[in-house]
Amino acid sequence: MRSMSKINRTEKFATFGGNTKNVIASDPCSRAWVEVDSKAIENNARVLKNFIGEECLLMAVVKADGYGHGAETVARAALIGGANSLGVATLEEGIQLRNAGLMCQILILGNLINSEELYASFCWDLIPTISRIREAIICNNIAKKNHKKFVIHLKIDTGMTRLGCDCKEAKELINKIDSLENISLKGIYSHLAIADSDKRENTHKNFTQIQLNRFQKVLNDLGKRNKSICRHLANSAGTLSSSCLHFDMVRVGLSLYGYFPVNDYEHDLNLTPALKVKARVTLIRNVEKGIGVGYGHFFKTQRRSKLAVVAIGYADGVSRSLSGKISASIDGVLVPQVGAIAMDQMVFDITDKPDIKIGQVLTLLGKDGDVFISPQNWCDLSGSIPWEVLCSFRNRLPRVVT
Ligand SMILES: *Cc1c(COP(=O)(O)O)cnc(C)c1O
Repeated sequence: MRSMSKINRTEKFATFGGNTKNVIASDPCSRAWVEVDSKAIENNARVLKNFIGEECLLMAVVKADGYGHGAETVARAALIGGANSLGVATLEEGIQLRNAGLMCQILILGNLINSEELYASFCWDLIPTISRIREAIICNNIAKKNHKKFVIHLKIDTGMTRLGCDCKEAKELINKIDSLENISLKGIYSHLAIADSDKRENTHKNFTQIQLNRFQKVLNDLGKRNKSICRHLANSAGTLSSSCLHFDMVRVGLSLYGYFPVNDYEHDLNLTPALKVKARVTLIRNVEKGIGVGYGHFFKTQRRSKLAVVAIGYADGVSRSLSGKISASIDGVLVPQVGAIAMDQMVFDITDKPDIKIGQVLTLLGKDGDVFISPQNWCDLSGSIPWEVLCSFRNRLPRVVT
């Protein structure tokens, strides 16, 4: 009986327009979407590469699907702009880039702990980050079986207290790794914990200096080998704050996408934000004064109002905590969002801009004419950070590369 009803259903659908499978709307900009300016990424890579100078390599960090911009798009643009290698967080992210045909060096910044993952990383020519001897031995065994060397980068914890071997134990670990014949130690790195914190807090510079000193000590212990190993420490914040933190390579994420981790740099690098979030008006409503809008009626109209329903919600990555706080731009004019942001919709008060039509496009994030709404603007309202805002946009939003 079950399968019968299934067949009937399919047939019923099939009567509408023939082959239903092929009936899909093809315009990615029909509802809501993320627009990615690949030339901006390319240009940011070029600006950053010029800034760090000839001697220093540029790693483009494209984890979390390129901070929500699309990893492959970002990777290609960054490489054209002068990036030398890519950084990802997971094995799968690395494999995805290899499958897309990217042949450059790719470092996995996360921790792979089982031999299947490390074997896959070896096969796909992805460089794992190693924090302790156990994984180094697994890598050595894999490479030995295959009569090859396994290229790894070693991570040292200088004060982030996350991944990496305690810097006090680094010398001993390096000696052990050196005794493993099939390991090729090509990089040593660490990660800064507070370089992107508010500089007005006095601890900021001091602690980055402490991390630098600890890292330097580990490198000094390497003696002559120091020169043949790629040493890297700086994220965007470190890269932009001091050339003392650059070493042989910097790993930039946020700045590659066009944003400054903090706002008080002395230089004035010309970085261009690459991402815009846009959505269309799907309905316009004229309502009386005193009418509740949306779930919970958190907003009540204070006057006769014109409202625009817009087809984007928290399921697309616009946090519900921004409800009633953000504005969007239309023709370079800001209109306020009102009521609770719902899963798939939100409402804007367009009483002061009554010429808006159904189907018109609102810019929720990014530049529109003279208006620029930055991830930081949202963070000031929600307590988030730009990194989180950028990678929160879901796959339901098509990425449209311009
Ligand atoms: C994400 C990440 C970066 C990039 O950080 P930004 O602040 O976005 O530049 C650099 N290094 C490591 C280890 C990371 O995990």
